[in-house]
Amino acid sequence: MTGDFAGGRLTIDLGALADNWRTLAAVSPDSECAAVVKANAYGIGTAEATRALAAAGAKTFFVAHPSEACAARAAAPDAMIYVLNGLPPGACDLLASLRARPVLGSQEEIEEWGAFVRAAGADEAAAIHVDTGMTRLGLSPDDARALLPGGLGFRPALLMSHLACADEPERPETEAQRALFAELRALLPETPASLSNSAGTLLAKTSGGDLGFDLRRPGVSLYGSMPIEGRASPLKPVVRLEARVIQVREAAAGDPVGYGGAERVKRASRLAILSLGYADGIFRACGSEDGRPGATAFAGQVPCPFVGRISMDLIAVDVTDAPSVKRGDWIEILGDHVGVDDLARAGGTIGYEVLTSLGHRYERVFVK
Ligand SMILES: *Cc1c(COP(=O)(O)O)cnc(C)c1O
Repeated sequence: MTGDFAGGRLTIDLGALADNWRTLAAVSPDSECAAVVKANAYGIGTAEATRALAAAGAKTFFVAHPSEACAARAAAPDAMIYVLNGLPPGACDLLASLRARPVLGSQEEIEEWGAFVRAAGADEAAAIHVDTGMTRLGLSPDDARALLPGGLGFRPALLMSHLACADEPERPETEAQRALFAELRALLPETPASLSNSAGTLLAKTSGGDLGFDLRRPGVSLYGSMPIEGRASPLKPVVRLEARVIQVREAAAGDPVGYGGAERVKRASRLAILSLGYADGIFRACGSEDGRPGATAFAGQVPCPFVGRISMDLIAVDVTDAPSVKRGDWIEILGDHVGVDDLARAGGTIGYEVLTSLGHRYERVFVK
């Protein structure tokens, strides 16, 4: 009931999410397309996203934490679920009870899981992460060469690595990672292999060969963000965020707007005050000051620039060119005219951060 009076409304298009998964799956039809639903499905909601993706045909899901595996399991009883951030000490029983597979990235994790599998007498599967050039998680190539041929003590279900630079297609590192990964996966020829995130999925190949392998792991692209800058996006927007106009007011040329008077309007203006701010995931860096524009909202087809600093709960936008805007109207912050990557650019960040910062104070409406 109080949702009717929220300052914003977030509409999540689960049909567009499913379409994006199908688009990504079709890029390399011989490689399975999984779905990464970590971080509350990049901010949109694990349960709804996982159900929609499973209905579209996704069979394998990746999360980062065991708690996220719980949420994904509840939404997809039959799916394969992998936990990317590895095995927290003592978590073997929990993961086995969830039928979730850890992605093991160090010798310690491999030993703990191996001991659990031997004690349980069970054939619990896990993935092995090898580091091909990111220096974050995963066995070093030398450790992988020593351990993979027979030294694990249990059945690896998947061999994976992660691309560090695939969002910049001209970088040579991606081909170097692909070649090293191809060499390491030859040590476990029976085990399915996975290398690509969203950027790798959209690149599809390097000069040396395909990036698809057996399974791809797109995340952010499912939610409508294009990780490769400067390329036309084949993806549909999934999130629409609208803010309620709580007051329309006049400002005279030269009037300062908001904290610090950081921007003075240049002409006699009409300003709409929106009931949205940092607490809703709108970054302070999206505001404007004299000489530096901020983000742009839309009233229908009319662009309405942000004016002045963003407050914790309030934003002013210039609606001088949209004279019909009145108290109670909704203004587009994200939607047909402003993609998550556009808002990210205005705030000096990336679509991942916009999506995963979407707030919890406003209504979330899921549409199919
Ligand atoms: C988060 C993550 C992904 C998905 O990455 P996107 O860039 O969001 O597509 C894939 N693999 C690993 C190991 C990850 O941590």
